[in-house]
Amino acid sequence: MQKVGILGGGQLGRMLLQAAANYPVETHVLENDDACPAAHLCRYFVKGDIRDFDAVYNFGKSLDAITIEIENVNIDALEKLEQEGIKVYPRTSVLRLIKNKARQKKYYTDHQIPTAAYAILQSATEIADHSHLLPAVHKSAEGGYDGRGVQPIDALADAVNGFNEESVLEKKVVIKKEIAQIVAVDEAGKMVLYPPVEMVFNQSLNLLDYQLCPADIPQNVLWKVEAIALAVVRNFHSPGLFAVELFVDAADDVLVNETAPRVHNSGHHTIEAHYSSQFDMLWRIILGYPLGNTKKILSSVMVNIIGSEGHTGTPVYEGLEEVLQIDNAFVHLYGKLQTKPGRKMGHVTVLSNEKQDLIHKANKIRQTLKVITK
Ligand code: ADP
Repeated sequence: MQKVGILGGGQLGRMLLQAAANYPVETHVLENDDACPAAHLCRYFVKGDIRDFDAVYNFGKSLDAITIEIENVNIDALEKLEQEGIKVYPRTSVLRLIKNKARQKKYYTDHQIPTAAYAILQSATEIADHSHLLPAVHKSAEGGYDGRGVQPIDALADAVNGFNEESVLEKKVVIKKEIAQIVAVDEAGKMVLYPPVEMVFNQSLNLLDYQLCPADIPQNVLWKVEAIALAVVRNFHSPGLFAVELFVDAADDVLVNETAPRVHNSGHHTIEAHYSSQFDMLWRIILGYPLGNTKKILSSVMVNIIGSEGHTGTPVYEGLEEVLQIDNAFVHLYGKLQTKPGRKMGHVTVLSNEKQDLIHKANKIRQTLKVITK
């Protein structure tokens, strides 16, 4: 039986472990917090910091393979493990490339992959030299994720809010749609695509409001999305599961925003709505089985369950019973012991072939299910 480790014990790790139950695999998880969502679902839990060289190396050295559920891991340790023959999914070369947004942008332009015009800066004072890119978004190269480390710069006067470190100044795209395209690659380089999803954001929190699958885009835009995502992933030369995030602009041009080299929030719905979920797919890749069927069983919407404003502490799921009664609604609560405003506490996937029915139910769930404290 193969021994496979996961770096990170958050909700994505938890869902990976749920899918692992179908296969003969001995699962290991490394995470700092022994009350994390994945801790009690794995065979062996190791408490340690995924950013620490020794913690990652010692965790990985007796395993057959290792994967990640978050990018913020010690890549030096993974590289040493890879040199010693432990299979790392994705390959550490891809993790290094993606970890740094400046390097990632350069990768896209080096491979003629469309992406928003940009400049790489070392300090905010350099913004003045690139005023042709304004209005822009300024992104710290290594500073953050989930909206942290991204700063709008609409005019030169905003440059004072910029980052004084390596960063990407990127021309603001007039976004018509945000799309995520998941691509799976096996050890032999064979690639399969899931139907792309369309993401609808809550502007105030910079978090996903709901996500529709398949994305409602014309055929010619779909072809561009697929071709671009395949070009992104093909040039990685790595097996694994990748989520390519793209913008469709006002002229229906498609631009890559960024790529996640791992199972991704934009694939939550594949658990119920697709024949082979993204989690099932990654196990097939790691364990050397044939790739799964990415086709949808039904169309779907996915709604995040987010901690309400003004509530920090032990979570109470108000409206849960009502949501559990909605036809074809699948509730996932991640078992986090503490809620706080904006924290992802779970998600709900709804299946239906009627788009109106999906949107209606997504709104109903958002209005009904609240994470509060008593
Ligand atoms: P993170 O890594 O924190 O998710 P992103 O680079 O994905 O950061 O940016 C977060 C959000 O900011 C995107 O989902 C998008 O809505 C917006 N954004 C990012 N880049 C641009 C851009 N060039 N033009 C317009 N909006 C952008």
